Amino acid sequence: MAKENKINDICAFCGRPIDKLNVFVPSMFEGVGICDECLREVNKAMAKAHQHSSSSSEKTHLDLKTPQEIFSFLNQYVIGQDRAKKILSVAVYNHYKRLNYIASGKNTDDVELDKSNIIMIGETGTGKTLLARTIANLLNVPFCIADATTLTQAGYVGEDVENILTRLLQNANYDVQNAERGIVFIDEIDKIARKGDNPSITRDVSGEGVQQSLLKILEGTLVNVPPEGGRKHPEQKFIQVNTKNILFIAAGAFDGIERNIASRMNSYAIGFNESQQRDNIDTDEFLKYAQPQDLKKFGLIPELIGRFPVLTSLDKLDARALKRILVEPKNAITKQYQKLFEMDNKTLTFEQEALDYFVQTALDYSLGARGLRSIMENVMNDLMFSIPDDKKNKEVVITKEYAQKVLDTNLLKMKK
Ligand code: ADP
Repeated sequence: MAKENKINDICAFCGRPIDKLNVFVPSMFEGVGICDECLREVNKAMAKAHQHSSSSSEKTHLDLKTPQEIFSFLNQYVIGQDRAKKILSVAVYNHYKRLNYIASGKNTDDVELDKSNIIMIGETGTGKTLLARTIANLLNVPFCIADATTLTQAGYVGEDVENILTRLLQNANYDVQNAERGIVFIDEIDKIARKGDNPSITRDVSGEGVQQSLLKILEGTLVNVPPEGGRKHPEQKFIQVNTKNILFIAAGAFDGIERNIASRMNSYAIGFNESQQRDNIDTDEFLKYAQPQDLKKFGLIPELIGRFPVLTSLDKLDARALKRILVEPKNAITKQYQKLFEMDNKTLTFEQEALDYFVQTALDYSLGARGLRSIMENVMNDLMFSIPDDKKNKEVVITKEYAQKVLDTNLLKMKK
């Protein structure tokens, strides 16, 4: 609203008249506004209030689920990956048990319970993000995903690590208290590995430098978070977030780490009973034997590894697992299409051969579980276009022949 300043305009807070002020922000009411100095004071008071509310976060009790409850909840959404599920269930249970213990005020003895941040190793599309997201849903805590590849150390082009917490705050609707017990998923952690095993003398902006920056938020301290994200600049007001009780789950494919694991295991075997030891190791699944030293060899710095005391790995998804993914999870893709058709009063069924065909196509094109959706979307799209107007047919059956016909046309341009 354009208003002309009058000489009787005053700051409603300090009462100084407009001709004594640097900046005057007028309100809707004539003659009343606020000056820049008072605005600064208001901002300070707001920041203090935020701080106060965050320090009371420890008093919030969380409805705790036992490891077995967590495990069976995960089973509804994530196929296979039992090893990772079990380890995650225990780690998450311990983490939130620790939170409730602190909230109860009983933590006066000398036993300090450490945080159980988790690191997951596994090929892309095997369910790492899905696991973390499902846990956050179960616990009803804020959740955010950060991509480590977009991060840079402070002062360089790219995203500051604090922006990760901005996202968490946004997902918690700026409820600092709630954000402070949330889950942060850091994807592609392997992409910020330092090149080579030796600490470099020159600065490694994309690797070690970022790892160092990440330490800052992992350590469990008060972090100044820009509420709107973006680069830090001195004029911006920050919201302080205490990361002490935030659960960090990092994940990465760690391409080639199985070679580190294999060579470590084989070198242990030398002089022991080499051939027997080798026979006992499933060469395809070295990942499950991963140890912190393998991550170090891969290029993560020991300080960072130390912040992730729980290490687990995910299995490759074979044809059987992919087929189960199509039909079994509570929100399985086939169930979602069936629901959509049901809303148009149609029943949709998939022949087993059609499902096998989807799976085989995903494997042939190395698309993994993530590709299943795009393959099915390809097949279903024409039908979803025509079915709502089709008054004759009440039942739709997806056969292998139909799927093959559609995909043969649509995948022509794709290379295996
Ligand atoms: P990652 O984080 O390991 O790269 P995601 O968790 O993002 O993989 O998986 C991509 C998608 O593939 C998921 O949204 C889900 O639909 C499907 N998916 C992958 N793994 C599984 C699994 N084990 N069980 C059920 N669905 C899965």
